[in-house]
Amino acid sequence: MAIAGGCHCGAVRYEASGDVLTHALCHCTDCRRSAGAPMVGWTMYQLDQVKVVKGTPKVYHSSKDGRRHFCPDCGTGLFYTNADMLPGIIDVQSATYDDPNAIPARAHIQVAERIGWMANAHELPTFDRYPPQG
Ligand SMILES: [Zn+2]
Ligand SMILES: [Zn+2]
Repeated sequence: MAIAGGCHCGAVRYEASGDVLTHALCHCTDCRRSAGAPMVGWTMYQLDQVKVVKGTPKVYHSSKDGRRHFCPDCGTGLFYTNADMLPGIIDVQSATYDDPNAIPARAHIQVAERIGWMANAHELPTFDRYPPQG
C-alpha cells in the first residue's frame, strides 16, 4: 500500500509505501513547540519506504541528533529523523497525508509532557463548524 502527502503549499510532496511501523500522537514539548500545536501525529517507517517526489525539505536541528524536515516555503512540518535514537527510521507527520484517515493513530506517547487540559480534550463541546453567535 502506498500513501501520498505533502505540505500546505504543495512545494514538497512525498510518497510512503509498505507497512507503517506505528502511528503515535506525540505530546512532547519539542514537537509542540516545533509545530505550534498541542500534539503531533507521527507515522513511523523504514527510511527507504519514504521518498520525496517533489521539492526539497529544509532540515532543522531541533536537538543534538533530532532533525525536523519542513517545507522551506510554507513551513509545514513533514518528517523527523534521529540517527542516534532511531537509526534507519523516518517519522512522517500523519496530518500531512492527502487522506489523513488512511492510517488511524494507535497510541498517545510522551504524555509525561502533555498539556494538562489535553487529557480531557475529547470531552469538550463539539460543533460541526463554529459555536452559535450571540
Ligand atoms: Zn510548502
Ligand atoms: Zn514529540
